[in-house]
Amino acid sequence: MSQYINLHTHRKPRVIGEIAIRNGFLKTIDFSKIDYPVSLGIHPWHVHKTNIDWALAQIEKNHAQIIAIGECGLDRVIQTTIELQLTTFHQQIELALKYHLPVIVHCVKAYSDFAAIAKQYPNVKFVLHGFSGNEETLQMLLNFKNVCFSVGKYLFNPTMNASLVIGKIPLNHLFLETDTSKYLISEIYQKAAQILEIEETVLKNQIFDNFANLFKIKK
Ligand SMILES: [Zn+2]
Repeated sequence: MSQYINLHTHRKPRVIGEIAIRNGFLKTIDFSKIDYPVSLGIHPWHVHKTNIDWALAQIEKNHAQIIAIGECGLDRVIQTTIELQLTTFHQQIELALKYHLPVIVHCVKAYSDFAAIAKQYPNVKFVLHGFSGNEETLQMLLNFKNVCFSVGKYLFNPTMNASLVIGKIPLNHLFLETDTSKYLISEIYQKAAQILEIEETVLKNQIFDNFANLFKIKK
């Protein structure tokens, strides 16, 4: 049986066969107690209240224990200046480059800022988590081979962009996630397979391949 890849969550796995990439907390992370894949990063919502040098050092110190940098990124809805967000995002991307790690990206109303970054770092692989761009945004971002897209709870709302554009995301650039939602990853897969009109097994195999490619994991 192929496994469910949950690209981004703040919880432990809740479904049999689920491989979840859990967002770790920089302040409390204790790798001696962890036996699941973790990503570490400075969330744009926390940038203003974080000692950035300390946080970057924490990520660097633990680089061998993590599977990705993130979630980190850009959010144009919050108060923190975009300049500070950009500086912090760049610093984390530099770590991703140095340690060959993919970046899990939080991006809210900042897709054109992000596009410039994706262009600037063609050797860094990015996954836009909770992707909620419209079709025009998606087409613009599909120019970048180093960008993948992860969708989740919005698939349950047929009027949301995620539901409307998922069919336009190349299957080899697609991931699914639960993030903080109430849904199980199995429910997200079922919904995605239904919208895409493909067998769930096909979707599972494809996303597992995407995961193996992105994280260079041997099957
Ligand atoms: Zn999250």
